[in-house]
Amino acid sequence: MRPTPPGAGEVQIAVKAVALNHIDVWGFRGMAFAKRKLPLVIGAEASGEIVSVGPNVSGFKPGDPVVMYGAMTCGTCKACREGRDNLCENVAGIMGFHIDGFARERLNMPARLVIPVPKGVAMRDAACAPIAFSTVEHMLFDNAKLQPGESILVHAGGSGIGTAAIQLAKSIGCTVYTTVGNDEKAQKALELGADHAINYQTDRFEGRLRKLTRKQGVDVVFEHVGVDTWEGSMFSMKIGGRLVTCGSTTGIKASINLFQLFQRQLRLIGSFGCNMRNIATSLEKLACGKVRPIVDLEIPLEEIDRGLERLENRQVFGKIIVTL
Ligand SMILES: [Zn+2]
Repeated sequence: MRPTPPGAGEVQIAVKAVALNHIDVWGFRGMAFAKRKLPLVIGAEASGEIVSVGPNVSGFKPGDPVVMYGAMTCGTCKACREGRDNLCENVAGIMGFHIDGFARERLNMPARLVIPVPKGVAMRDAACAPIAFSTVEHMLFDNAKLQPGESILVHAGGSGIGTAAIQLAKSIGCTVYTTVGNDEKAQKALELGADHAINYQTDRFEGRLRKLTRKQGVDVVFEHVGVDTWEGSMFSMKIGGRLVTCGSTTGIKASINLFQLFQRQLRLIGSFGCNMRNIATSLEKLACGKVRPIVDLEIPLEEIDRGLERLENRQVFGKIIVTL
């Protein structure tokens, strides 16, 4: 279905590649208390090409490769004006979850939420910038303030954001420990640059990490697993360590030992999404080859449910890309 021509301030985009994320599993299946109108187009992260440009739009022309921001922010609140897009006070929803997403041939989008893709970055790779790389960029550098030479534990090193986190942390010279679900993934995580890969199916990761760090723990824990790993993650931090989390794929309720929290002076940081600047930075890092998306599987749109099933069963190493 073709959308109407783009309105003032909008561009029309032909979607070329959609990268799947865990939020698409929930977007596809539905989630209690999520306010949305059905039917709904899923897909929260994508790349495409400008088809046409509406009135009052500058900086874009037909044929330009672009990626899109994954939430419909207002563009006028204090947070939006300050470039803290993911803290928008009047956000209309997350694309592909609350409102229609990107798994469709064409859509109109406000030009202010569209980011140009630099030369030399393939559409397939660019599709992994708006969420996978940018969420991690925001978590590690804006929120956890990860510094060169620090140590980090990356959970689920084979996941889309796990593969991004390993690379981004290594790119500034950190020591990276990662957890994975089998030995094959451990090997791949090491090849990607991780210094140590811990199979959480055969080892208690927090015990193994304590040994590897000579009982010190790490400076930063990168969390997105949730209840299954939470307690171990709290034990894995150095005194004064930081835990940054952007997800809870195994459940949302965990308990905190308050004594451990204040006595060890730990910092717990919630992170969700990213800002527009993070996306531009991620694309630059892709363009200069500092990082590269690890693609697990590329499938046509008709097979999107197969991709989501694979994602949910944790069979992936890297990203699943749906091409249009
Ligand atoms: Zn706003």
